[in-house]
Amino acid sequence: MQKLPSRLKLESWLVAAGRSAEPGAPLNVPPIPASNFILGQERSYSRTDSTPTWEALEEIIGGLEAGRAVAFASGMAAVAAIFDQLAAGALVVIPDDCYQGVVGLAMAGAARGRWSVQRIALTDTVAWQQACAEADLIWLESPSNPLLTVADLAAICAAPRKPGAIVAVDNTFATPLNQQPLAFGATVAVQSATKFIGGHSDLLAGVVTTRDENLWQQLQRTRALAGATPGTFEAFLAVRGARTLALRLERAQRNAMELAQRLEQHPLVTRVRYPGLPSHPTHETAKRVLKGFGTIISFDLRGDAAFADAVCHNVRLIRHATSLGAVETTMERRAAIAGQEHLPPTLLRLSVGVEDVDDLWEDLDSAIRTAAG
Ligand SMILES: *Cc1c(COP(=O)(O)O)cnc(C)c1O
Repeated sequence: MQKLPSRLKLESWLVAAGRSAEPGAPLNVPPIPASNFILGQERSYSRTDSTPTWEALEEIIGGLEAGRAVAFASGMAAVAAIFDQLAAGALVVIPDDCYQGVVGLAMAGAARGRWSVQRIALTDTVAWQQACAEADLIWLESPSNPLLTVADLAAICAAPRKPGAIVAVDNTFATPLNQQPLAFGATVAVQSATKFIGGHSDLLAGVVTTRDENLWQQLQRTRALAGATPGTFEAFLAVRGARTLALRLERAQRNAMELAQRLEQHPLVTRVRYPGLPSHPTHETAKRVLKGFGTIISFDLRGDAAFADAVCHNVRLIRHATSLGAVETTMERRAAIAGQEHLPPTLLRLSVGVEDVDDLWEDLDSAIRTAAG
């Protein structure tokens, strides 16, 4: 790979990393759709030996946190690879507010007797610090989905831990540009690259980053054994997405701050959850641990679930769709999702994209007014 000046800013690294140094080589590592390679060099079979396309993605994302990365077929494949490191009977701690796929995986493993699960409120820093002394896997997600609670990762990751314990941070909502879990002392950081890194709602991928060389090798072994490898074209698209991550994030989070402030003044909105607002319960922590407040807003509407559903059906520029972190703004009612019924019934999660902010506001405001009749 290309030799780069040391101490590049992350924005430059995203553009410059993961490229070939060979004269005459394509400037971008192309999608290499190979299951196998002609024998004689170190690469023979992709599942066990990786491909240049995934490696470009791994170099880019790993370098953002001064760690080494392993790319997976999806965010959940990455999560599963971390859980797979646990010995039988392990103690796992997960947050009260947590991505439903991770909760599902943790609970399914517990039901089969593979490990036991304890849940702790993300805001209870002391309880997390105490858990670090006993648990084998400390699973943090911050800001959390969908309540956007920000944990004091700096304090939790610095707590003494049980030897061999893994402190994992799902950093999907923040991205390495807004938060650096490995610098805080986490063992691994996880990205669903499906979201901000891909950034265009057209791929599934996941990445785990670590500074622990042994664990890095172990995660590669787990990926090879489980066959949880990224697709070649997905990795190619994720690299393309990563090139503009900083630009997209900057624009989208400026839009998000503006929309959050306007929503807070809206007569038909009862509550806005955005870590950048002083009214957010973890705003002070967010100011300390995050470089930017992100692009996701959860807000509650006055009225009932049917009213909130009508708002989702009325938007025209904003798309009624799940997922997040893409160029286009999407919105959905979270309690409508199986397993998410505990959430406020009118809570809408808005993933703010890079459109013009006034166009977004006009669309949202008119969708709310039209639903109100
Ligand atoms: C989407 C998401 C995941 C899972 O990623 P997939 O790519 O869908 O498998 C994990 N954590 C968070 C916070 C997510 O938003």
